[in-house]
Amino acid sequence: MMNMLQKEIQGIFSGHPDILYGFADISYSPYAEAYASALVFAVPYGEQLDPSTYTEERFDAGIQSARAVLETIVTDIEELLQKRQAKYWIPPVAQENETELLARFSFKTAAAHAGIGWFGKNDVIITKQYGPRVRLSAILIDEVFEYGRAFTKSECPDTCTKCIDICPCKALKNQLWTLYMDRSELIDYHKCNRMRSAFIKKLGRKNACGLCLAVCPVGRTDADELRTVKSCQVFLKKL
Ligand code: SF4
Ligand code: SF4
Repeated sequence: MMNMLQKEIQGIFSGHPDILYGFADISYSPYAEAYASALVFAVPYGEQLDPSTYTEERFDAGIQSARAVLETIVTDIEELLQKRQAKYWIPPVAQENETELLARFSFKTAAAHAGIGWFGKNDVIITKQYGPRVRLSAILIDEVFEYGRAFTKSECPDTCTKCIDICPCKALKNQLWTLYMDRSELIDYHKCNRMRSAFIKKLGRKNACGLCLAVCPVGRTDADELRTVKSCQVFLKKL
């Protein structure tokens, strides 16, 4: 039966119907000894998701706006967890270093376990509602909840190669994901990171490169998709 804390968390999300969320049993994780579960949520990106106006700058601005929404939710949930004296931890988003390029706790793996989405051929979580155009976050909580039904394999169409074809540095390997597959089977993350890092001097930050997200047809209408492909092609010419 659903516990009171889970109901209260659901109450917070009921005020944000566009945000996807779910609970995952994290017994697969090295953090399982300290926390039983992860609450995972996915905030859809903002303005850059308009496919007819795609630019890297707008894409980055949309990520930032999703981050602001996400921070508000985290604050509300944290307040609730403190009130209920629950043991919790908010893992950092950032990768630990530029060598392994791995975060301490993978939001994406937790999202697959929570039933939020599957790993696409672009190594990004694909949600049915928004495709890969969401920002993920997670809070580890030492409580047992009712869990989502995990995705255990890709639901990308076998024949779709849109993300593979659009990647400017050919970092994606055209593989269909299964649960616990190593990231290196899907993507050469160093290639992707090198390409994005090459913009630090010019932009003062890595290139947000959302090409393999913007082009994904999942969560789009046909008309959106056609405009996206055209705007991505325009952007690619500028690289
Ligand atoms: S973010 Fe850009 S460079 Fe990285 S895999 Fe996607 S398309 Fe390629
Ligand atoms: S573009 Fe196609 S292959 Fe790539 S993630 Fe989206 S559905 Fe999967």
